[in-house]
Amino acid sequence: MTEQISPATSGKVLRDVFGYTEFRPGQSEIISALLDGRDICAILPTGGGKSICYQIPSIIREGTGVIISPLISLMKDQVDAAQENGIKAALLNSSLSPRLREETTQNFASGRLDMLYVAPERFNDEGFLDIMRKAKIALFAVDEAHCVSEWGHDFRPEYRNLSMLVRDFPQVPVASFTATATKRVQDDIIRSLGLRDPYLHRASFDRPNLFIDVREKSRIDFQLAEFCAEHCDESGIIYRTSRASVEETAADLSRKGFSALPYHAGLDDATRQKNQEAFNRDEVSIIVATIAFGMGIDKSNVRFVIHADLPKTLEGYYQEIGRSGRDGAAAHCVLFYSRGDIPKLLYFINQATDENERTRQSAALTAMRRYAETVRCRRRQILAYFDEKYPHEKCGACDICTGDIERSDASTEAQMFLSAVARTGERYGAQYVIDVLLALSSERTKANGHESLSVWGIGVKKSREFWQSLSDELVGINALSVADGKYQTLSLGEAARPILKGDAKVSVAVLTNAKAPRRPRRGMSKGNELFERLRALRRKIATEQGVPPYVVFSDKTLLEMSEKKPQTEHAMLSVSGVGAMKLERFGELFIEEIRKYQGENGSAETGPSAKEQSQRVRKTTGSTTAESRRMFIAGL
Ligand code: ADP
Ligand code: ZN
Repeated sequence: MTEQISPATSGKVLRDVFGYTEFRPGQSEIISALLDGRDICAILPTGGGKSICYQIPSIIREGTGVIISPLISLMKDQVDAAQENGIKAALLNSSLSPRLREETTQNFASGRLDMLYVAPERFNDEGFLDIMRKAKIALFAVDEAHCVSEWGHDFRPEYRNLSMLVRDFPQVPVASFTATATKRVQDDIIRSLGLRDPYLHRASFDRPNLFIDVREKSRIDFQLAEFCAEHCDESGIIYRTSRASVEETAADLSRKGFSALPYHAGLDDATRQKNQEAFNRDEVSIIVATIAFGMGIDKSNVRFVIHADLPKTLEGYYQEIGRSGRDGAAAHCVLFYSRGDIPKLLYFINQATDENERTRQSAALTAMRRYAETVRCRRRQILAYFDEKYPHEKCGACDICTGDIERSDASTEAQMFLSAVARTGERYGAQYVIDVLLALSSERTKANGHESLSVWGIGVKKSREFWQSLSDELVGINALSVADGKYQTLSLGEAARPILKGDAKVSVAVLTNAKAPRRPRRGMSKGNELFERLRALRRKIATEQGVPPYVVFSDKTLLEMSEKKPQTEHAMLSVSGVGAMKLERFGELFIEEIRKYQGENGSAETGPSAKEQSQRVRKTTGSTTAESRRMFIAGL
């Protein structure tokens, strides 16, 4: 029996099952296209909410949605989370006992599942393929689809086999999802999977809830401890470059009384997994890690990401900070920047044997350095790097947009710099041009005859750092353009001429007083006692159920509860993230905790008076036993 799908259905599922009132950008269109049976190629930033895009159609369409995911460790959490929402989800992988595998296979074959998570290797297994051919399949969802492309940063050969989906199951729509894809990788996904005129969705990469911050790195141990003290009890990741510094920082923070564990590829499997698990389950607040940490985490309540050392690329950096704030609540990302980190990175780059590789890596490092040093909205800079134009002048959520900036006129110096670029024939990089301005004699300057130029040494009154940031500024305003050849050579850009003629002014910006984001922006954590109590309750429930706490309710949901203080089932349902299933399972416990809190703190504070409360309770729909029990408990 096929069900008629009304357009309102997916909105209803969003409300009833997930407890959300509105779709995030793109979700509704992707879901509609899937419900129409179309293939999908979706590029959504981390935390964009891709799971719902295949979960809702899996629920609505007849048959089971088969979700292909590369990470066994993630599958279990995803299945747990879906089950908490009352979705019939299961997974099939090599970690299952034969009995459980048999049971799951049976449930799948007989159509009792909404969703089945599998690893790509399954598709080499003839037995499994046989079962699939007999089962009714609602859709295929290929998660982390960039793994199909050799141009991506995480190619996996097993993904190549997935072209068989379209071939062997021509009637089933295939939806691919990824958070990172250049245009080239995007095309690769479509071609390799053989998607048929897919509905293409490329979301904005902006993550407005991340506060993006760059600070000068000086005494890093002290700075990290200070930050952690300001964010005590929040979940966070601290990235470091080397295993040794990961160990050192984790030990140092532990010594200072913070709850922190290390994570890097040098630890044995068991320890690594144990530490990751502890972080996932909020048993430890801080994980200090190399970039080996990340792919396997789906934790939505990471409240900060710190880079204690300079990352190698802006792509990597943005992906790493993207692991915070996935629940949509505010998160703070700090890069502690010191020029002193650059020589170490250059050393590693020079170790690369392949010349193209060296060129690529040093261009990436330059972009990273420029990002950290340029006094311009961080968000604008990052999005520009991903070819996306940010529509506002200021984002209001980065150190530049919220700090005090002083600009000083540097028009004369700009003319000097541009002249030096022109006189040396627009064939050199910034470092060489600065050498000329500072009259730093070398084999090259001699051989090129540049020491007799009129610009030789005209810049000695300013520091190398000054010229470096002026150069970045000139690139930023298109007075200079950078060619990414073997060397990053500078040439005059379209904005150069008016500056040289004295018709346009140039100023350099100096950040004089950076401010941390206004905290607590949404009353997160500190001073919010009720939030803390709800968190403690969540942790207790999660431990009892053997699931990560964010699977019970996200931080954002608890925060909203602590603000609205719902004391009826009806009011509880209006909290974003509370669906029918979660209300039934946990609603009462949380309402009780809120009432207890209100009782202790005098309900006059915000909540309705006792009289109002009792009226409200009576007015709510059913006189279910749960309801009367709660009224009893509340002394009504
Ligand atoms: P990702 O795209 O990184 O896989 P998820 O699917 O895990 O993101 O979603 C991130 C978080 O956002 C989850 O906690 C999810 O429940 C929540 N979420 C997804 N869609 C919505 C929505 N429409 N309204 C509110 N929260 C949502
Ligand atoms: Zn900004």
